[in-house]
Amino acid sequence: MSLHTLTIHQLREKLRRGNVSAREATQSLLDRIQSVDGKLKAYLWLDAEDALAQADAIDRSGIAKNGKLLGGVPVAIKDVINVEGQPCTCASKILKGHTSVYDAFVVQRLREAGAILLGRTNMDEFAMGSSTENSSWGITHNPWDLERIPGGSSGGSAAAVAADEAFAALGSDTGGSIRQPASLCGCVGFKPTYGRVSRYGLVAFASSLDQVGPFTKDVADGALMLRVLAGHDPHDTTSVPQPVPDYTAGLGKGVKGLRIGLPKEYFIDGMDREVEAAVRAAIKKLQDLGAEIVEISLPHTDYAVAVYYLIATAEASANLARFDGVRYGARVTGEDVIDMYGKTRGAGFGPEVKRRIILGTYALSAGYHDAYYVRAQKVRTLIRQDFEKAFERCDVIVTPTSPEVAFRIGEKTDDPLKMYLCDIFTISVNLAGICGVSLPCGFTNDPRLPIGLQVLGKPFGEETVLGVAHAYEQATEWHKARPNL
Ligand code: GLN
Repeated sequence: MSLHTLTIHQLREKLRRGNVSAREATQSLLDRIQSVDGKLKAYLWLDAEDALAQADAIDRSGIAKNGKLLGGVPVAIKDVINVEGQPCTCASKILKGHTSVYDAFVVQRLREAGAILLGRTNMDEFAMGSSTENSSWGITHNPWDLERIPGGSSGGSAAAVAADEAFAALGSDTGGSIRQPASLCGCVGFKPTYGRVSRYGLVAFASSLDQVGPFTKDVADGALMLRVLAGHDPHDTTSVPQPVPDYTAGLGKGVKGLRIGLPKEYFIDGMDREVEAAVRAAIKKLQDLGAEIVEISLPHTDYAVAVYYLIATAEASANLARFDGVRYGARVTGEDVIDMYGKTRGAGFGPEVKRRIILGTYALSAGYHDAYYVRAQKVRTLIRQDFEKAFERCDVIVTPTSPEVAFRIGEKTDDPLKMYLCDIFTISVNLAGICGVSLPCGFTNDPRLPIGLQVLGKPFGEETVLGVAHAYEQATEWHKARPNL
């Protein structure tokens, strides 16, 4: 068996026993990337020598053998999270040539756990998109069908993990950017509760929605990664000083007696029939495993896309004001400073980012602020209350992650609204600030494309969500399937 196909827990066992070195683990990924990434283009940047040097340092220190959670495990990073000394472009021309001067909190955590920072993965520019087609550096291809998108915005991270080009990867999820690509690529993607993981060093898109989380090959690895990433950080005032449970030790309890809520609004007309059938079969499986199914309602679901695209764009318009050619990134000189701002931003941002900045600026502008932004905030509260009420009747909520499987490259690029509808099952979760995971639950027939199951939990209910996901995964074989590349 080649090393690159292992899960983290399998690899760790070998590293701990000294059967495998961090260098060998890293080299196996580098070889894999060399052989398949020309087709997938999941990575934007990779310095093989630097990765091997990190691995050698870990081998010399012996930390892979002393029980460090990720000792000797290479992890890929979405190009929106800062790793000191590595490029960070957010897949945008405006940050071309920018090198990070500090580590994000999650990266510090990875380093402390003994991980190797492997490389930068592709994404939609500034994490705005659902297909990775908005990257300024080219498209990432879905490992199950190279003519299709990997989902987005963390498409590079999802494709890398699904294609065994990484043991795990980090992503960010503002409206579904971890769960949706995980679903479309057939891996596990976890979006923690708002406040569970620090965003210090994550380039901000929409600060009231953004969370960092892991992509992994199975749920046990997701639990392991979350243990490393979670926890309080004084540098992010929204991070919550709540103890971090041992997510790994909490697995294996099964679902007996747990109440699983099915929101009637999430089984909609127009949904792919094979997706619906796979999700219904997964629900049946959970029932067979001893869970109780209860029908619930999330009545404000219909407003979620509209609310999200007002709040997220409003926040983005403010967050992206810092990219002005003054402090970092690309600059186009002008006649005066205003002209320089305009030229720099005009040349540096792609069309989707511009669309969002314009929409967000409009929603915040005098005269429209109350009608759009304030109204959206009020409806956001109703959406959060929907979940609060639902969770009085159930322990977790199960839904499809995405209404459809991976679509063809170019299929939705000229219709932003169609693209926005990809997020219909994932964005309410960010608006409510709760946690959720996507894991494989089947395939369509022809072409054979992965389908994702979404399990949602209460705020700080990560343990329960992981427990349900793990119980389902262990009773099925979907997570073991690999694309033929
Ligand atoms: N697809 C959504 C958007 O385009 C979500 C993106 C994200 O979660 N970063 O905004």
